[in-house]
Amino acid sequence: MSGRYYTEIVSDCPVCGARRSFIVRQTVYNMPLEGPTVVASAKCLKCGYRTHWITPYEEGRERRLRYHVKGPRDLNAILVVGENTDVLIPELGLEFLSSELEQGYVTTIEGVLERFRAKAEASCRGREEEGECRRRLREIGEAMEGRRSFTVELVDRHGRSRIIEPGAPVE
Ligand SMILES: [Zn+2]
Repeated sequence: MSGRYYTEIVSDCPVCGARRSFIVRQTVYNMPLEGPTVVASAKCLKCGYRTHWITPYEEGRERRLRYHVKGPRDLNAILVVGENTDVLIPELGLEFLSSELEQGYVTTIEGVLERFRAKAEASCRGREEEGECRRRLREIGEAMEGRRSFTVELVDRHGRSRIIEPGAPVE
């Protein structure tokens, strides 16, 4: 069994916040029965958090990962956003299409909301008093305080994205 495609994402740690200490390595293997499979490991060099997972490698087929946020604790769920992955929050009408984003990154749901807020603030500059802008910024603010329930959806085209529940066991 030999790795045929390898990627690495280096990011700030979503658990302890240490700068550029969180490393996600993914290799695609051709498994005899399962076919192409992504074998992934993630670890923080600072706080020691680590986890791993295995998913089918997809080519030309979308997979949708969903996480339902019901309260403040859920904002700490970790998102591994692989290349060519869209991030959507349908209830709030928010989306990042993969063309807008870098190669891949790791963040939390709170971190994604911060990105959406920065984007909304930039697009509302000079018209903060308009109804549409006020509503959008208020909704994102409520979501960041855990006062709204909503769904985060990753539209993943290569099987490289992952949602890790808050407080998932450290291995
Ligand atoms: Zn850490």
